[in-house]
Amino acid sequence: MFVDTHAHLEMLEDVEIVIERALAHGVSRVVAISSNLESSKRTLEIARTFPQVFAAVGVHPHEALSLDKRVMEELEKLLENTKVVAIGETGLDYHYMNSPREVQIASFKNHIELAKRFSLPLVIHVRDAHEDVVSILKEQISEGIKGVIHCFTGDYLTADRYIDMGFYISFSGIITFKNTDKIREAARMIPPEKLLIETDSPYLAPFPFRGKRNEPSYVVYVAEKIAELRGEPLEKVAEETTRNAKELFGFY
Ligand SMILES: [Zn+2]
Ligand SMILES: [Zn+2]
Repeated sequence: MFVDTHAHLEMLEDVEIVIERALAHGVSRVVAISSNLESSKRTLEIARTFPQVFAAVGVHPHEALSLDKRVMEELEKLLENTKVVAIGETGLDYHYMNSPREVQIASFKNHIELAKRFSLPLVIHVRDAHEDVVSILKEQISEGIKGVIHCFTGDYLTADRYIDMGFYISFSGIITFKNTDKIREAARMIPPEKLLIETDSPYLAPFPFRGKRNEPSYVVYVAEKIAELRGEPLEKVAEETTRNAKELFGFY
């Protein structure tokens, strides 16, 4: 059994077929991720339709400008639903800088407040912003927050800074691409109890589907790559990553 811990299911047109195909490949749980208020509503609707799907609700750092008081209140209402298992995706993206830095930081901190209030884990997106994310999380860590650094693209030492604070590290199809030695090294070295896998569908389809649309069934290719890197049987990676996902998101 596998868990795809990060898929933007609301961006796919054929969710039902995609979920069936995931199940046929042993991917029996999917965490569906949101990017803004509208997508949070659609994501939750999908999670309520399919027993295998759970929802993360939140506003992507790209869209941090959209997070006003009204949106916060609407998100809070959605968070009361039992199919919501996480807050996100949130975080900081200084690569694209689609929202100004200060606005992204304010949005990230608002999401952290929600995570504390609702006792839910954070799904954190980081691009060219590890220093700020680490220092913001450090301020909060005594408050018992938990979560995952999704689609991790840093090196092992960076991963270790998050692991030190109790966070999980999730790897995507990027580790099947060429010239990703540093990320692969992180995937090889991090402790098994902190390891998660994801697709980030519809983006980042793993080799041999690179450039095509991604979907949750392809998370098996990510798991296979991790098994190869760590010199472990695929079953072990499947077992460990599934156990970690269940522990973090609290589903069975
Ligand atoms: Zn992301
Ligand atoms: Zn994403």
